[in-house]
Amino acid sequence: MNVLVINAGSSSLKYQLFDMDTKGVLAKGLCERIGIDGRLTHTNPKKEDKYKADVPMKDHADAIRAVIDILIDKEWGVIESMSEIDAVGHRVVHGGEYFADSVLIDDSVIEAIDACIPLAPLHNTPNLIGIDACKNVMGENVPQVAVFDTAFHQTMPPVDYIYSIPYEFYQKYKIRRYGFHGTSHKYVAQQASEMLGIPLEHLRIITCHLGNGSSVTAIKGGKSIDTSMGFTPLAGLPMGTRSGDIDPAIISFLCEHENKSAEEMLEVMNKKSGVLGVSGVSSDFRDLDNAINEGNDRAKLAKDIFINSVKKLIGAYIAEMGGVDAVVFTAGVGENDRSVRWDVCEHMEYLGIKVDPEKNKYRGRQMDISVDYARVRVLVIPTNEELVIAEDTKRLVEKAEEE
Ligand code: ADP
Repeated sequence: MNVLVINAGSSSLKYQLFDMDTKGVLAKGLCERIGIDGRLTHTNPKKEDKYKADVPMKDHADAIRAVIDILIDKEWGVIESMSEIDAVGHRVVHGGEYFADSVLIDDSVIEAIDACIPLAPLHNTPNLIGIDACKNVMGENVPQVAVFDTAFHQTMPPVDYIYSIPYEFYQKYKIRRYGFHGTSHKYVAQQASEMLGIPLEHLRIITCHLGNGSSVTAIKGGKSIDTSMGFTPLAGLPMGTRSGDIDPAIISFLCEHENKSAEEMLEVMNKKSGVLGVSGVSSDFRDLDNAINEGNDRAKLAKDIFINSVKKLIGAYIAEMGGVDAVVFTAGVGENDRSVRWDVCEHMEYLGIKVDPEKNKYRGRQMDISVDYARVRVLVIPTNEELVIAEDTKRLVEKAEEE
């Protein structure tokens, strides 16, 4: 079965075509500047170069057409015709309280995703447009599946998802903690269980997805019981450009003193804060490291705040779960930045966590970096959200065929 995985943004669309017999990526790429002019970048792993071209894309349907054209292209393509795409899996950011698992898309699913637009207008709107574009271009007969960033966290108990604000706001507007990056947290927890040879039901795992966006999740018996992102992905850890948790009173203070609207302040919290905001250097940890090496104190402070925030969450989740069996690092920073892993885990021997500096030297691959005698395993596991989307798509399409 060939599954096309789509991640549609407002003006971009990422794709990967999987052969699910081998779980290999046949081709992948990116459409950019949709609705502006249109640019396609396509990678066929059998070729050294990338295909790059300006392709007019007035909307997402044009982008999907461009993707299919290149997938069946004589020189750059990997399939003979569109009929070799058996199913499409979509990343959908917000499933609200409707979805605790991935789902085969039908009209009622589209309605529910639509109902979640107020919760994530910048994400769910383009996700829906992507679904609609695939339906228009590929026809009704190609099954489509939605995989939600929020679904894995739907197992959280109310004590972890209800905010201490008037309860009527939850009832009226569904304001609560949802959590995000669920696909990644779920995947690395499963991989951790396989690595350790212990069923998920018997494990307490803390997964640290540290990338451009970052979140930490407490997973007990395979279920997410708490996570650091909240009503939106702005909450929790400081990130590349997002503030993470701050005192909410700061917003109204700055609105008044900087003469900004709440919306403008949100923009500041989303785009100009985090390690970029504190360092004044960059949102990218590689740039921070270069600046730190050159003696930039604010870059060091920004990184230290980030590290300290991850550390505090790990402590909190150990307390909440009554212990921990494994801590997992994943995503761009977690997989690659050994100093973050080392500093986060430093001084945690008391809790059974001790990283081996020799094992921690490597990056970007699956490994156990804890000292042999440590009670808690510290693991590095590269995440693969696209593969999870492809696997869920296959699972649900096959299930529907059986019924
Ligand atoms: P996203 O959240 O956008 O999916 P990623 O998980 O790809 O992000 O993480 C991107 C971030 O990973 C970059 O901004 C950069 O800070 C960090 N990163 C990538 N490679 C390295 C590296 N070798 N060392 C340190 N940080 C890295």
